[in-house]
Amino acid sequence: MRWSEFLIPTTKETPKDATAPSHKLMLRTGLVRQLAAGIYSYLPLGYRSLRKIERIVREEMNRAGGIELHMPVLQPIEIWEQTGRTAAMGDVLLRLGGPEGDWRTQTVLGPTHEEVITDISRAYLNSYKQLPVNLYQIQVKFRGEARPKSGVLRTREFLMKDAYSFHADIESLDEGYQKMYDAYCRIFSRCGLPYVAVEAESGAIGGDASHEFMVLTDAGEDLVALSENNDYAANTERATCAPIPQDESEMKPVEEVHTPDQKTIDEVTAFLGTKPEQMIKTLIYVETSKNQNDKTSKNQNVKKSKPVVVLVRGDHEVNDNKLNRVAEASLELADDQTIKQLTGADVGFAGPHSLKDSHRLIVDQAVAVLRNGATGANKTDYHVNNLNPVRDFPLTGDHVTVGDVRTVTDNDASPTGSGSTIRLRKAIEVGHVFKLGSKYSEAMKATYLDPNGKARPLIMGCYGIGLNRIMASAIEAHHDDNGILWPMSIAPFEVLIVALDPRDENVMATAGKLHDELEAAGLDVLFDDRDERAGFKFKDADLIGVPLRITIGRKSLADGVVELKARDSESLEKLAPEAVKDKAVTFVRSGLEKLMP
Ligand code: ATP
Ligand code: MG
Repeated sequence: MRWSEFLIPTTKETPKDATAPSHKLMLRTGLVRQLAAGIYSYLPLGYRSLRKIERIVREEMNRAGGIELHMPVLQPIEIWEQTGRTAAMGDVLLRLGGPEGDWRTQTVLGPTHEEVITDISRAYLNSYKQLPVNLYQIQVKFRGEARPKSGVLRTREFLMKDAYSFHADIESLDEGYQKMYDAYCRIFSRCGLPYVAVEAESGAIGGDASHEFMVLTDAGEDLVALSENNDYAANTERATCAPIPQDESEMKPVEEVHTPDQKTIDEVTAFLGTKPEQMIKTLIYVETSKNQNDKTSKNQNVKKSKPVVVLVRGDHEVNDNKLNRVAEASLELADDQTIKQLTGADVGFAGPHSLKDSHRLIVDQAVAVLRNGATGANKTDYHVNNLNPVRDFPLTGDHVTVGDVRTVTDNDASPTGSGSTIRLRKAIEVGHVFKLGSKYSEAMKATYLDPNGKARPLIMGCYGIGLNRIMASAIEAHHDDNGILWPMSIAPFEVLIVALDPRDENVMATAGKLHDELEAAGLDVLFDDRDERAGFKFKDADLIGVPLRITIGRKSLADGVVELKARDSESLEKLAPEAVKDKAVTFVRSGLEKLMP
């Protein structure tokens, strides 16, 4: 491909609103162009990389036994109602508008395809003899993301590989899940991504177990907890840690302190002369109204109207997922009126001792081992110091639960018991595998006949990869101040031939011949034939990050050599033009081989 005949709109300008390195570089190299918030075109260079990623994903899915199909973007809302997911998806589910009674009002743009695939399986997977089976597609998804971010890392339209597996039993699901897990490892290795697999929360997809594949970078929106000795890795949405040991300090008598206008933890700790880790945050929750109407809620017996008082340490944050699991209910923060009624005080002065109405009490493990904590006095403008669990508020009883309801922090210890320290790191989620179980098949009545002729719900798994995120994460992981350093496997071009003196016939003839030979050898070659200065071309070469650069100029050619330079190295190699072809072929092949798992 000749640069002059291709479209690579590189620019020196760094867009102001771009902060993530991949976002800046993708715009500067002309890989993508933003059309509207969260909506991007892939320009020719970017599209070449995306297609290579797609090819790797397809090869590995096929190797793992996946069967490709293609499902529609347009989906009737009816199937989403069957699984009860219209509420869970909220504004993420994009509906086509239209006049009342029009078909458009009943149609959504697919954000994912569990419902559609379950409709297919309900029709065609009727016997245990057809199981297990794994069906996948590579297709565009639409999500009403509230905050599209960091270029193509979070967009409203993106390309996903989504796979769905169907099984007769849990053992088979476990096997199918492991196969996908292994395939994902191969895919990300082949794409040159440094990744970690972490335990994950299932979110709106639902299901029993899941792992996310993460690329560690500050541009990521996820926070993962990794132990220093690598024995634990989990998304902080669900990560746990080793219990904090009991504080053995002597209990002091409770004292009430007048704290006018001191409301935040920082204000109160400063005023009381204590530390955030000695504070007890007393938060009041109620069950969400959504949950109270949910007939499938496991927790029908809990008195819905009772407020739930939650205690965490002042330096800790409540983790909603973990709290809901411990509470066996879906909770939300109570309104001011509920808080005032329960505490008999203004908002900001709640404490677990002397509460007015009946309530549930959930005590985080770190609070349960605390001594002489400070918290609100249930009296406006007052706090109490030296509050102690058991003595001053209960840790046992019908309405009390002690559990792990907080988000882990830096320096917590690994829950494995190894004592290894946990570190929090930002990360991009590039893939996610779930064990769904029978959530969708039960909701949509997708059953198969077992060997005894008994109808049973299909057991399912689902597996997603964001192709655009692979591309952006690869750039996050591989770039320097001058531009991208593409992994060979997903580089838009593998070799760049730069002609330094484009008006010199000999230079152009040699470069053109080499270009044709390398293309004939199966390499992806870009030939910078533009009539531009050497410095300008080298800058562009570094920016677009083609792994191997071959420079051909009048002077060196007169010396009987051309120059080879790898993008990730400073050293130049001079070779006779006849020797270049073999050298380039070997360079590209070994670059690809190095990425093979
Ligand atoms: P996130 O938590 O980042 O919003 P998700 O957990 O909702 O993502 P999944 O439903 O698990 O995403 O989708 C599977 C894969 O699709 C993700 O692992 C990610 O790589 C990709 N993906 C999801 N949402 C987006 C998006 N808005 N833009 C680009 N890729 C996305
Ligand atoms: Mg996910």
